[in-house]
Amino acid sequence: MADGFLAPKAGFATKAIHAGHNPSKWYSSPAVVPIVTSTTYKQRGPNDNDGFVYGRSANPTRNSLQDALAALDGGKHALAFPSGLGATTVLVSLLKHGDHILSCDDLYGGTNRLLRNLCAKMDIELTFADFTNIDNVKNGIKNNTRMIWLESPTNPSFKVIDIAAVKNVANTHKDIIVIVDNTFLTPYLQRPLDFGADVVVYSLTKYMNGHTDIIMGAAVVNDDELAEKLKFLRNALGVVPSPYDCYMVNRSLKTLALRMEQHKKSSLAIAKWLQKHPNVTEVLHPGLPTHPQYALTQKQTSGHSGVFSFKHSGGLKESRQLLQKFKLFLLAESLGGCESLASLPSLMTHASVSAEQRAELGITDSLVRLSVGLEDTDDLLEDLKQAFKAVF
Ligand SMILES: *Cc1c(COP(=O)(O)O)cnc(C)c1O
Repeated sequence: MADGFLAPKAGFATKAIHAGHNPSKWYSSPAVVPIVTSTTYKQRGPNDNDGFVYGRSANPTRNSLQDALAALDGGKHALAFPSGLGATTVLVSLLKHGDHILSCDDLYGGTNRLLRNLCAKMDIELTFADFTNIDNVKNGIKNNTRMIWLESPTNPSFKVIDIAAVKNVANTHKDIIVIVDNTFLTPYLQRPLDFGADVVVYSLTKYMNGHTDIIMGAAVVNDDELAEKLKFLRNALGVVPSPYDCYMVNRSLKTLALRMEQHKKSSLAIAKWLQKHPNVTEVLHPGLPTHPQYALTQKQTSGHSGVFSFKHSGGLKESRQLLQKFKLFLLAESLGGCESLASLPSLMTHASVSAEQRAELGITDSLVRLSVGLEDTDDLLEDLKQAFKAVF
């Protein structure tokens, strides 16, 4: 790593600001990482170089970001990708026809669509199960299972999955890698590698970049051989991000700790307010003591982020009205930015999930998902108040 000056015990914020960047390694010692746009590098002699040969295979700005990402998750290697789904595509490319993926049933809509389409084309078997009951993981594993895929908390039902328990089950079989999509919590709130996960995957587009202006993804791993395979595939498939985007995410990581603290605090206050509202029937927020997996949340995370769901007493009509009455909460997909967002998963993020699967998962037309941003909590509460008053 290029940051040998960082004490191994450095705290999260210190790492987020300094990991991956040693100013004296660069010409003129710049305080922040330069954006290197060069697509090729001068070699000392034919095939005599420092590992920088061509921009797709390696880039110094990208390396800085990757070193920072690895440090934050406590992993040995990180790989940046041009989107979260780009990372997923490369991970699925580790498999061959006849292999089996066991996935948790409640997933980001785009991941659900990608897995279903890619697996069908590549002749990879794919099954979904509710991982909150660990027996479903045990019973879901087959002889050809090579990958277990999960999000915790899940989306948009906010079920919490015991990562260590899933890994223990996977360990009783050969050659299964456990992949955890940690987009909703970031390493500030949850570090899946500490619980035995083999790969942590991110949509950096969300909290990690946090400013609603970059699409990017990443994967963090400990195993050297797995990292080599992923690097080979990323280069061979050409799934690489731009140096500018890498710089932007690296810059955003410097405020990750501060941002996540505020998202966490504000969303919990809003969830508690909603819980008391007469027209709210359910609040799905793992930071609430009433959440069915509150104890597991306390064990596995340092709290919950700004994204959660609630159900109201109306139907589709009321959902539409509520979303349109918001003034601060922007009616938009996505999450994890400074701006608060509100969405209707059944018609938006999860429209690509089959109607049957949506019904099974309880993704009804009265389930609204919020991404609580960084505005003043009181202003957000005022916005909710006025919208509810206008509709109910
Ligand atoms: C957004 C998202 C993705 C996909 O990431 P992109 O950067 O949009 O490709 C994957 N998983 C989760 C949980 C997400 O929220």
